[in-house]
Amino acid sequence: MTAGAATVSGARLLEGAPIAAEVRARVAADVAAYTAANGRPPGLAVVICGRDAPSMVYLDRILKTCAQVGIATWTVDVPGDDAATQDRELGEAIRRLNADAAVAGIIVQMPLPAGVPLRTVVDAIDPTKDIDGLHPLNAGLLRLGYEGFVPATAHAAMEMLSHSGARIEGADAVVVGRSPVVGMPVAFMLTKANATVTVCHSKTRDLGAKTRQADILVVAAGRPGLVTGDMLKPGAVVIDVGINLVDGHLVGDVDFASARDVAGAITPVPGGIGPLTNALLLAHLVRAAQRQAPVGAPG
Ligand code: NAD
Repeated sequence: MTAGAATVSGARLLEGAPIAAEVRARVAADVAAYTAANGRPPGLAVVICGRDAPSMVYLDRILKTCAQVGIATWTVDVPGDDAATQDRELGEAIRRLNADAAVAGIIVQMPLPAGVPLRTVVDAIDPTKDIDGLHPLNAGLLRLGYEGFVPATAHAAMEMLSHSGARIEGADAVVVGRSPVVGMPVAFMLTKANATVTVCHSKTRDLGAKTRQADILVVAAGRPGLVTGDMLKPGAVVIDVGINLVDGHLVGDVDFASARDVAGAITPVPGGIGPLTNALLLAHLVRAAQRQAPVGAPG
């Protein structure tokens, strides 16, 4: 059985934790080597704008993992009670962090508060510190199929697929969601891996007719229980990226109870893509720090 796979009913359960642990072990070794060579640890700045509950959980986990592997962190709270002030302060906070040599990577809490456009982050962030792949340079490199920083969540979805043992080449893949942070990057990566990709979104007619074609289904819509078992092709590999807080519990975009009897393999929520995203983001941070390290640094 491949790493990260256990069995539930019919479907194999694709758990993120075992793969994330392998990634974290590599990150910890790289952080130790970087710190020895450069006299300081790689640094991550986390910019908080608003207090969206699920993403605060995600950010707290990232900060804890950084502490475990020896990455220095800074949390920057963007002031302001109205969108215009938050927007201005967010841009300024990112530009200050761009200029700080101790900060190798910057992430911004998502989703942004209503009225604060993603464009503010996109325009401000230094592409060399953009470890979640938002800057047009990184998005463009991904679109062209070249190496750059890709969004960690999209990277996690692909990493999970490769561990699932699914054959991507030639597969019919359906991505539900077309956001610049998840849906579209996953669609580009699947295309590069030679899947035939359909992207669905809020205006798609008869979503089930599309999802039932999918050998590989990636769902990133932010709609709890949007995809049910009757919308799946039997044996499909289902990657549920959704994180939704319902009655105090985290749930995905896929109705796990009905889907697990039809899917061949499925990610749980929580415990699937989330932990892997967290670990891969730190791998991106280390890569950013290594690229920024001055030539001839001690060690
Ligand atoms: P978003 O709101 O930016 O985009 C949602 C997309 O889903 C849009 O393209 C929209 O057209 C589509 N959509 C909405 N309703 C739909 C419907 N009924 N049918 C088909 N498509 C529909 O969200 P996002 O930032 O891409 O995040 C998506 C989900 O992934 C959220 O639940 C978010 O919390 C989660 N997320 C998880 C991680 C992780 O690490 N696991 C990271 C980022 C986001």
